[in-house]
Amino acid sequence: SAKSNGRDRISHFKESLRFTSERRLRVFSALRKALCEDSFRLVFQPKFDISDRHRIIGAEALLRWRDPQLGDISPAEFVPLAEANGLYNALDLRVLKLFARQQGDWVRRGLRVPVSVNISARSLQGTELVPSVLALLDYHEIPPELLLLEITETGLMNCTGEATRNLADLADAGVRISIDDFGTGYSSLAYLQKLRPSELKIDRSFIAHLDARDGNGDGASERIVRAMLALAESLQLSTVAEGIETEEQLAWLVENGCEFGQGFLVSPGLEIAAFETLIGA
Ligand code: C2E
Ligand code: MG
Ligand code: MG
Ligand code: MG
Repeated sequence: SAKSNGRDRISHFKESLRFTSERRLRVFSALRKALCEDSFRLVFQPKFDISDRHRIIGAEALLRWRDPQLGDISPAEFVPLAEANGLYNALDLRVLKLFARQQGDWVRRGLRVPVSVNISARSLQGTELVPSVLALLDYHEIPPELLLLEITETGLMNCTGEATRNLADLADAGVRISIDDFGTGYSSLAYLQKLRPSELKIDRSFIAHLDARDGNGDGASERIVRAMLALAESLQLSTVAEGIETEEQLAWLVENGCEFGQGFLVSPGLEIAAFETLIGA
């Protein structure tokens, strides 16, 4: 009957609710444990010259976590949990240490690989991040320009004066700032001047719609991406298109003057050995 059908649906709904909150709780407590252990690693997604995909100009470090019980857990799941529960500082510090160890090794071997590291905007609050970053660079003898900090535009929207000053201190020290997922944050453009970024990363959601097959040449995404490229050029910022998956998207970006790209068309995030093979190290 309709009535029992409705009851079924409600109990299904309760089931899935229970599942998600239970899952969140399990992932969160595993995460808290993992932060005291060594179950994280970085993979490196090549960043390439848009007009020559074989010219790798750096990489984005992406965090990977394998829990002994829960298996592989995506950063898309655990990063928001860390952010909502006050673990972002510990997580960002862990990532920065992993980065510094790897970059220190490359520097010693004479390899020059600019690496982007994703940082939660919340970590820019407070007095811890800047000295930690500078101490790690110093200890591992890493030239600061080999580190780019990626901060999402959404995270930057609620940026306080303190966060802005911290970013300025990092920029003064030579660390570069990259605005991630650009175009998804609806923020005012004034902050682009204040935060002194050196790079804009155009969000994958726009790149996904650059295909001739669903845009026939002049869809909204195309016009928006063209406007972003023009804005970046007038502010003298580098441009990176993220999430390039097809030849059509790549061709469009070459034609419209984007500088750099990342995406599965060229490579996903690679384990260190595979990345080193790719760059001929
Ligand atoms: P993001 O910084 O925008 O990173 C790009 C994400 O898109 C990565 O997913 C990458 O694997 C994926 N991707 C790259 N190319 C393509 C493509 O061509 N097609 C598709 N469909 N996807 C592509 P991942 O590694 O799962 O990371 C998801 C998000 O988690 C990242 O988005 C970033 O916001 C966050 N994240 C990853 N690593 C870290 C980290 O070390 N610290 C912090 N705070 N956040 C991180
Ligand atoms: Mg990123
Ligand atoms: Mg991104
Ligand atoms: Mg994105």
